[in-house]
Amino acid sequence: MLENGLYDEVKEMYEEFKKIEQRDGPGSVDLERGVWQVIGFKQFLPWLKGEVDSPAGGIDSMKQATRKYATRQTKWIHKKLLPMCQADYAVGDREAALLDATDLSKWNQNVFSRGVQICQDFMNATPGTIPNYSVPLAPAGLEELLKARSAEKAFNSDKWKHHVCEICTRLDSEPCISIGEEAWKTHLNSKRHRLAGRKLQKQEAFEHWKRKQSENPQSNSDLSPNTPKEANVAADEQSEKKQKI
Ligand SMILES: [Zn+2]
Repeated sequence: MLENGLYDEVKEMYEEFKKIEQRDGPGSVDLERGVWQVIGFKQFLPWLKGEVDSPAGGIDSMKQATRKYATRQTKWIHKKLLPMCQADYAVGDREAALLDATDLSKWNQNVFSRGVQICQDFMNATPGTIPNYSVPLAPAGLEELLKARSAEKAFNSDKWKHHVCEICTRLDSEPCISIGEEAWKTHLNSKRHRLAGRKLQKQEAFEHWKRKQSENPQSNSDLSPNTPKEANVAADEQSEKKQKI
């Protein structure tokens, strides 16, 4: 980072920082928000302000902050991201993959190609099904890292649970998915869902009538509807009864 122009970058940021402080007064920049919270700026402030002669202290505290951040990130992945992905694994719409970026000389092979391949397999899968990955989601020997630890209590899987509406999915060509209990309840009460239910009942009544007709074309004695139109009326009556219930 130092070789790649870290100092130039922090000096450039410091120019902006000074402009804001000159305009809005000292202490007006909130170092915990926006771009200012980035690791590698505030650690160098004493040096940039001329309070210390050497950036060495900044480098040390930047390394320390980076390590702390990495620990927080890893914890978040294991306790929140992975349980969240696994809760929805049956739907196959969320997946975590692990790319090994520790050896930069193998970046193209280990990170770039594998990443692109996994994304392509994901994009090629039919929505609502588990994609067929042509490479393992974790490199050999690192599988353990993709296993979720016990989820934190704060994690509410209901909030992200995917509900697939079988009825609407059967009628439309696309899967009908609601995310979370609230959205699912709203969908079940929606006009779209109720109409889909009635339409499907009509279709089923018609199929039933057709089957009866082909089994016994002469029979008028049973109570099933005899024409597609009667089948529709019967289905309407049935669904109205159900709605009243
Ligand atoms: Zn529905």
